[in-house]
Amino acid sequence: MTKRVLLNVDYTNDFIAENGALTCGKPGQDIEKYIVNVTKQFIENNDEVIFAIDMHVENDPYHPETKLYPPHNIKGTKGRELYGELNNVWEVHQDKPNVHWMDKTRYSAFVGTNLDVILRERNIKEVHIVGCCTDICVLHTAVDAYGKGYDIVIHEKGVASFNQIGHEWALEHFANCLNAKIVK
Ligand code: ZN
Repeated sequence: MTKRVLLNVDYTNDFIAENGALTCGKPGQDIEKYIVNVTKQFIENNDEVIFAIDMHVENDPYHPETKLYPPHNIKGTKGRELYGELNNVWEVHQDKPNVHWMDKTRYSAFVGTNLDVILRERNIKEVHIVGCCTDICVLHTAVDAYGKGYDIVIHEKGVASFNQIGHEWALEHFANCLNAKIVK
């Protein structure tokens, strides 16, 4: 059977929790149950699950985001841990061979990581994406997946942004320009 991958993008305390450093707030919190369920389904189905998680060091003068955002997802902090029940899913399943943690330092999970190699060696063609933000890290990851020839599936109930207009624009872009399947 052909494996699929679920890319779990940036669902951390800093991006989701009420007191997170760069939080999406309620729209992010509202997708928790969906993300948890779809993540468990992929794990149980023996598909691959990759937690592709933003990682920074504080005040990095070489990082392009330093000028744009307050410090967030700093290595070793609580803010960089997965939010809510998803953190429990990670803790319970992290030793499974189909569950992976991948540090990333740019919006796209393909930039500066071995994600493309991991997918190609497993013969994975179908990339599912959940997480945040729809119009930033999910978008840039989807654009790179498209450019590399993957089939893209976006779970509408599993993505969120602090910017509702950006969120809606990105969903249209996934469907109309990246030929993504949108799971309603
Ligand atoms: Zn960042």
